[in-house]
Amino acid sequence: MVGLPVETRDVDPVCGIPVEHADAVAQGLWERIDGEQYVFCGIGCHVSFQQEPRRLLGLDDMALQDRLNV
Ligand SMILES: [Zn+2]
Repeated sequence: MVGLPVETRDVDPVCGIPVEHADAVAQGLWERIDGEQYVFCGIGCHVSFQQEPRRLLGLDDMALQDRLNV
């Protein structure tokens, strides 16, 4: 039988490249924001994300304004 579907890759929200989820978690390269888990390709992206996670995710008011004004 076929096992569970394996969806192992997530996209790094900072640089947009696919990241192997388990590897990133094993290295501590992840954050949980608003109940969602995000993983990163490396410490650089992780640090950038920690500095302004909501802006990078487009969750803050300014980003929403920008989007609405397009
Ligand atoms: Zn990255």
